[in-house]
Amino acid sequence: MEISYWGGLDHVTDPRCSHGKRPRRLLCWDGKNTGRRYLGCPMEKKSQMCCFVKWMDEEWPPRFPGARRLLLLSGMW
Ligand SMILES: [Zn+2]
Repeated sequence: MEISYWGGLDHVTDPRCSHGKRPRRLLCWDGKNTGRRYLGCPMEKKSQMCCFVKWMDEEWPPRFPGARRLLLLSGMW
């Protein structure tokens, strides 16, 4: 499996957030979606962020170890 760095602003895809900005590459850390990559609003402050979300990974199959993949993606080991 090829693992590449995931982060920063996305310069590849077309979608823009509700501010018209290029989205930021983010990783979900929440529950069953842990480890899924998505694009979100690039604003620094949460209060300024719009609710733009575009998932880049399909939803995990029920038993897929998403948390393990998250470690790979984030370079924590
Ligand atoms: Zn936005």
